[in-house]
Amino acid sequence: MKDKKLEQEHFNNKSTVYGPVTSWRLGESLGIDPIFVESTCSFNCIYCQLGNIQNITDTVKEYIPAQQVIDDYRSIIDSGKKVDVITYSGSGEPTLAANIDQMIKGIRELTPNIPQYILTNATELHKEEVRKRILGLDKVIVKIDAPNEKIFQAINRPAADITLESVIEGIKAFQKEFQGQIEVQTMFMPMNKKETQQLAEILKEIKPSLVQLNTPKRPYPMSWHRENRGNHLGIADYETRSLKVLSPEEAQEVEATLTKITGLKIQSIYR
Ligand code: SF4
Repeated sequence: MKDKKLEQEHFNNKSTVYGPVTSWRLGESLGIDPIFVESTCSFNCIYCQLGNIQNITDTVKEYIPAQQVIDDYRSIIDSGKKVDVITYSGSGEPTLAANIDQMIKGIRELTPNIPQYILTNATELHKEEVRKRILGLDKVIVKIDAPNEKIFQAINRPAADITLESVIEGIKAFQKEFQGQIEVQTMFMPMNKKETQQLAEILKEIKPSLVQLNTPKRPYPMSWHRENRGNHLGIADYETRSLKVLSPEEAQEVEATLTKITGLKIQSIYR
C-alpha cells in the first residue's frame, strides 16, 4: 500500500508516458515506454534500475498499441507540462517494440519541434528492419559497458546468442544509415574499470559524437516496480541492494584515459 502511494506521488504509472524526469544527460526528459506490460529486455544488466528483468528476450513484437502511447503523450502535452526532449526507454529495451516507428511518427506529428531520443542497448541493430524503424529519431544513445566478451556476459547478461561482437556490428551498420547523432553511454563499475584501455579501442572504432561516462547511482531493486522507469531518487521503500560505484577520483582516472586514447568528447556524471 505504501509503495502505491509513493508511486502515485511521482507520476501516473498507468501511463506509457512518464515524467518529465530530470536527467543529468538530457535535461527535462519525458519518458516513453513502448514495452510497458512487464520488464522486458535483451539484457539483464547487473545494475539495472528495473531490477531482475522479468522477460529476457530478443523477440521483436508489438508489446502495446502505438495509439495508446500517442494518446498518453497527447494528454501530457495538453496538460501544459514543459518538455525539453522525449526519450524512448521505459520498462526495458525499446527497440524490441515492433511498432516503435508508428510511435515516433505519431509523436512527431503532434510536436514536430521536440527532439526524440532513444536509450538502447543496441542488441537489435544488426536487424535491418529494426534499424529502419528508428531512423526518424534525432539521437540514438547506445550502451556499451564491456570491453570484451567475458565482461559483456558478466555485466549485461544478454539473451542467448547475443554477443558483444554482434552489438558492435549492429552499431556500425546503423551508423551508415542514420543521419542523426549517435552517442555512447558506458556504465562504469570496478568490474570494467580495469579494462578502460580495451574499451577505449572499441570507442575509437565507433567514433560516437559523445561518450557519457556513468556509474550506477541508484540501488538495485529486489522487485519490479514500474515507478523505476524514471531516474528520480528517494522512492525505494522496498528492498534494494547497493551497488559498487566508482569514486570521483576513479571516474576522473577513467575519463582521462578515455580522452587520451580516443580524443572523443566525454561527459561524466561526476562533473
Ligand atoms: S539494457 Fe537497460 S533496461 Fe535492459 S537490463 Fe540493461 S539497464 Fe536494464
